[in-house]
Amino acid sequence: MQDTFKHKGMRNQLVKTLTDKGITDIKVLEAIKTIPRHLFLNSGFEDHAYQDKAFPIGASQTISQPYTVAFQTELLRLQPDAKVLEIGTGSGYQTAILLHLKAKVYTIERQNELFKATKLFFNKMGYRPKKMVFGDGYKGLEENAPFDGIVVTAGAPETPKALLSQLKIDGRLVIPVGLEEQEMTLYIRKSQKEFEKKTFGSFRFVPMLEDKN
Ligand code: SAH
Repeated sequence: MQDTFKHKGMRNQLVKTLTDKGITDIKVLEAIKTIPRHLFLNSGFEDHAYQDKAFPIGASQTISQPYTVAFQTELLRLQPDAKVLEIGTGSGYQTAILLHLKAKVYTIERQNELFKATKLFFNKMGYRPKKMVFGDGYKGLEENAPFDGIVVTAGAPETPKALLSQLKIDGRLVIPVGLEEQEMTLYIRKSQKEFEKKTFGSFRFVPMLEDKN
């Protein structure tokens, strides 16, 4: 599949929709405008790629809704070269957005089928995260910590302590917390022991599950 003018036009439209919904970070909007989301879906579904909604990607998982990706990315407030941990690689779309923002990305996926497929896809596309891990995101990635930002793209029943402990001072953890519905939650590490916590309304994610399959 290719990236055509038609797709670019649809992305411009999507950017307009996200702006109308309140996304303001120019760099995030620029990333959405650039990354060909239709290539992250199975072929045949490209008509769905530029609507602002989540979509199945196999293994009972979904590619997050563009608004959600933009919202979470905006909350990370990434500087170029920031070191970021993503929990839930899935289709790799969020990963690609982070890479476009010049982050050094470490990403973890617990579904082996998706992990392998997305790894191959990244090779083909030339997307280069620092590390792709098949494993359990509840544990974070101690050997590469601390991180400037951590983004969880599955609904966590509660905030894993390991993730908080792997943030740099001033680092940000963006995590949807809750069972049926999740509250978008931002933690900013103020010191070794102190975290500022803010919440940003409810979202719906597939659940964050324990262990790898
Ligand atoms: N960022 C992805 C979102 C995919 S949905 C995208 O836009 O495509 C959430 C993903 O989190 C799923 O792929 C799911 O398998 C994964 N996941 C769930 N629990 C996890 C865990 N404990 N560790 C790592 N990945 C997890």
